[in-house]
Amino acid sequence: MQSIINSIVSANEANGKIHEGDYYDETGRLFCGKCHEPKQTEKPFPLAKPPRRMFIPCRCDREEEEQYRRRIEAQKAQDKIKALRRSGVMDAAYNSYTFAADDGRDSKITASCKRYVAHWQEMLDLACGILFYGDVGGGKSFYAGCIVNALLDLGVPALMTRLSYLVNDRVKADNPINLKQFKLIVLDDVGAENISQTAFDIVNDIYLARIPVICTTNLTLSELKSSATLEKQRIYNRILERCPKKCLVPVTKSRIDASRELDRLSSEILNK
Ligand SMILES: [Zn+2]
Repeated sequence: MQSIINSIVSANEANGKIHEGDYYDETGRLFCGKCHEPKQTEKPFPLAKPPRRMFIPCRCDREEEEQYRRRIEAQKAQDKIKALRRSGVMDAAYNSYTFAADDGRDSKITASCKRYVAHWQEMLDLACGILFYGDVGGGKSFYAGCIVNALLDLGVPALMTRLSYLVNDRVKADNPINLKQFKLIVLDDVGAENISQTAFDIVNDIYLARIPVICTTNLTLSELKSSATLEKQRIYNRILERCPKKCLVPVTKSRIDASRELDRLSSEILNK
């Protein structure tokens, strides 16, 4: 009776563990046909009569398990990045701003942005951001987005949004976004928002929490340095202090040509 039970148990245990090519040695112990490591312990199971052997993983089994563990970890890391991206990029258009999509219009600015990512830990420790300024169409948001997306890919919680969005959120939402969950905040198009106490509070919160802030703006440096109103100046002073690197993003000739070409094509089509 006992031997029948043992053979049933063994058959159940062996389920999926014995593969084609596996073999038994002269003592009846099972070996892997691939790596030739034993697949059963030498020690008999103490309480079973007659004694039976227990299955153990051979090298192939251990490698398979390790690969499975790595796949699960990689999947978890991907899921984390996806979740970060959902919480961090407020406008879907920002997702396409990546170094891979850079047309190389200004290699110096690209190099600076890549250095910012490479030296991220130092930038974080110094609470150091970048101010991208210049006329519309130069690609200021694009460069800021490249940094955000590269850091999101590294698992850094980064947010790219507009100050006006955060103001609306803080005034209207039941649970406004907790900015302290982010390690980097990009404020796109600074200067376009209405200046309010809430706008100042948000910039001040970011400033006091020492979260690095990257800003893009169509304003000139002199407009940022000497605003008409005290309210604006209080906001811009904090931004200027935390963005020691002021990066002028010029509107290149190719961008102007592309824009003129688009104008020409659209007029040609629409004026027919
Ligand atoms: Zn094996």
